[in-house]
Amino acid sequence: MDLKITPLIDREKERPFLIAGPCSAETEEQVMETAYQLAAQNIHLYRAGIWKPRTRPNSFEGVGKVGLKWLQRVKKETGLKVTTEVANKEHVFEALKHNIDVLWLGARTTVNPFSVQEIADALEGVDIPILIKNPINADLGLWIGAIERIYKAGIKQIGVIHRGFSSPGNKMYRNAPMWQIPIDLMAKYPDLNIICDNSHICGRRDTLQAVAQRALDLNFDGLMTEVHPVPDEAWSDAKQQVTPTRYKELVGELKVRIANFDNPAMLTDIKDLRHEIDMLDNDLMQILHKRMELTEAIGRFKQANNIAILQPVRWGQILSKALEFGEKNGLNEEFIVALFNAIHYESIRHQEEVLKEKKKP
Ligand code: PEP
Ligand code: MN
Repeated sequence: MDLKITPLIDREKERPFLIAGPCSAETEEQVMETAYQLAAQNIHLYRAGIWKPRTRPNSFEGVGKVGLKWLQRVKKETGLKVTTEVANKEHVFEALKHNIDVLWLGARTTVNPFSVQEIADALEGVDIPILIKNPINADLGLWIGAIERIYKAGIKQIGVIHRGFSSPGNKMYRNAPMWQIPIDLMAKYPDLNIICDNSHICGRRDTLQAVAQRALDLNFDGLMTEVHPVPDEAWSDAKQQVTPTRYKELVGELKVRIANFDNPAMLTDIKDLRHEIDMLDNDLMQILHKRMELTEAIGRFKQANNIAILQPVRWGQILSKALEFGEKNGLNEEFIVALFNAIHYESIRHQEEVLKEKKKP
């Protein structure tokens, strides 16, 4: 679907767009104290969860509607814009009634098209920016589907939040970033604003900085980070929240690099290098084309001699030779495996075509 999205963020002036605040609104004092400290740091949008989707019952499930009044107080006293998560139509109606500036859909909502549609229906005819988190599973189609449902309801200001993908057993991340997925989304919709929720990706404090920097280097528009006055005592997601002071340091240490590189003088400096890259890419394509032609010739031989397409021993030899080359030349093992798997699958597909053709009368 062709989306004509109005950006939420002015990339020239507001990058990185900073969304910060507690995982959950717990008490009026906690909400206000955090807001005052973050307003002093000039963040762009204040977050606090009012309704919390929790894995098991009897955990803290959010303060509910009363929290919306606290967010209204934040707006009035600090001037900050505010956002909260909505997961059903009642949440939408209540949030709109209380003039919440931006709504976000959580990962457990994006995963369910019925819930997304219910929210989309509740938003029909309303003019409010919506942020859509990725679904918990690594499914780009489902993420795009949620964007399309909200867009079809008439919402024009849509952004997305990358919060990583469920990956039980992963020791490094609470939710694996799988950067290729947001990168694919950016390539498909270059005007869509994309925010990195480093808190839910990391699930811990010590890696927040590195993930935030990585996101900015990948041209993300901003960050959503959980901030709490006393993180260890937070009622939800205690391990990943940071104090306002630590948050300030974290933002201060970020290197913000040029997002849209179109300076003519600088472009001239790298023109020759880019030209060389283009020529090499062209060579690569020619070589791949040539390789497929040879593959087809072998396919005809296999057809004539009744030999199966997949020859595991040969494939093993090809891959280990490539891995050996990679190791000597600084090419990552994961990359070599992915590259050669892709080439191998394509070769198999070509040989299958050869075999099919031969079957034709
Ligand atoms: C949250 O932002 O606190 C939250 C519940 O996030 P997610 O939907 O990404 O799990
Ligand atoms: Mn949280």
